[in-house]
Amino acid sequence: MAAQRVLILGAGYAGVMAANRLAGRSPAARVTVVNPAADFIERIRLHQVAARTRASAAVPLGSLLNPAVELTVDSAVRIDPARRLVHLAGSPAPLAYDALLYAVGSGHAPATPGTGDDAGCGFGVQDAPSAARLRSRLRSLAPGSTVSVVGAGLTGLELVTEIAESHRHLRLRLMTRGVVGGDLTPSGARAVRARLARLDVEVVENTDVRSCDESTLTTSAGAVLPSACTVRAAGFAVPPLAGDSGLPTDPHGRLLVDSSLACPDHPGIFGAGDAAKVAGPEGLHLRMSCASALPLGAQAADGIAAHLDGGGPSPASAGFLLRCISLGRGAGLIQPVTAGDHPRGPVLRGPLAALAKEQVCRMTVSWLRAESRRPGSFSWPRGPKAALPEHTAGVR
Ligand SMILES: Cc1cc2nc3c(=O)[nH]c(=O)nc-3n(C[C@H](O)[C@H](O)[C@H](O)COP(=O)(O)OP(=O)(O)OC[C@H]3O[C@@H](n4cnc5c(N)ncnc54)[C@H](O)[C@@H]3O)c2cc1C
Repeated sequence: MAAQRVLILGAGYAGVMAANRLAGRSPAARVTVVNPAADFIERIRLHQVAARTRASAAVPLGSLLNPAVELTVDSAVRIDPARRLVHLAGSPAPLAYDALLYAVGSGHAPATPGTGDDAGCGFGVQDAPSAARLRSRLRSLAPGSTVSVVGAGLTGLELVTEIAESHRHLRLRLMTRGVVGGDLTPSGARAVRARLARLDVEVVENTDVRSCDESTLTTSAGAVLPSACTVRAAGFAVPPLAGDSGLPTDPHGRLLVDSSLACPDHPGIFGAGDAAKVAGPEGLHLRMSCASALPLGAQAADGIAAHLDGGGPSPASAGFLLRCISLGRGAGLIQPVTAGDHPRGPVLRGPLAALAKEQVCRMTVSWLRAESRRPGSFSWPRGPKAALPEHTAGVR
């Protein structure tokens, strides 16, 4: 019997986890990963690359993928679900599949003009080229220049503190349309505020940024502030590939999948990670994160294996335990959360929390490697028993 062809689009946290799990467990499947580069990018370290506390976030895929996985360095430009083909940017010959995992991840959220979200002329940290660009911009700034980070979610907090700690000659400003730490427990929010104060980060709350140029930014209230470098850290957007291919998407362009991570009406197509939206209660709490991409990648692999074996779907379940936030290299915050991602309980802060976060970053890569050697070894916290209807997850 001919091997069944599994195509995995995207070698991020979800795609690599799925490829290793499938290649080791389903010898009858021929697994091919399509990714634009031969490196896996540890996106969770890109703020470190930008701040020069780490040289690179690239890990050669050859060192991560199960040797049975084939890697095609290319970009998928269109999926043809009727013919079960994927067209590539760099090759006239499309790739055929029996099962497909859509795991193309996310990047920079485009600014929405007129919404006060129009800081798109600045810098970003969403992918490796953006982090490299920001790194060289920071390097070129004269002492005393102001760097504004727009967005005080987890990525914005990690970025502003990383730069503030490593670039003491620059002035750092954190701008948010809400309040800092609004999504943490009161003790978590106090710890973050104390750290920002210690690093002399100016905090501007309840303010939108309308536009920016090389030396200033303009708020939605019309105030013009000095800013030699404005960095957008206010959410991720996904590639348009699913929608362009006629597959069902949510309003953000994420591939819509059911609770078993399968795309309804398109048998054999599965989705996981930032680029997929799990419809229904099982997906309500899932925010774009490495913390959900890894378990969803593992469960998509199990779903694909069952599909190829003619088995029935089984619902995926992924939940959260902790929000692990670096606040520079010298401090961090570990905020416990419920499985549904609601902050709770006492926090761990300071250098111990920084150490814990560093261990988590190392573990993500170790888990991917371990799954290649011992398929099925990765385990994760299950999702909430009953998702709260009022809680809709955003991005990290
Ligand atoms: C600075 C920063 C810090 C972060 N810190 C954390 C953290 O501490 N904890 C946490 O949980 N999350 C964190 N995140 C979020 C986390 O990185 C993402 O949610 C996670 O990377 C999503 O994984 P993924 O596998 O879905 O996609 P990605 O990791 O984005 O990988 C997708 C892959 O698909 C490839 N691809 C894209 N288009 C195509 C195409 N057309 N064809 C083929 N391949 C394609 C991409 O090049 C990429 O290799 C952070 C993000 C940033 C930017």
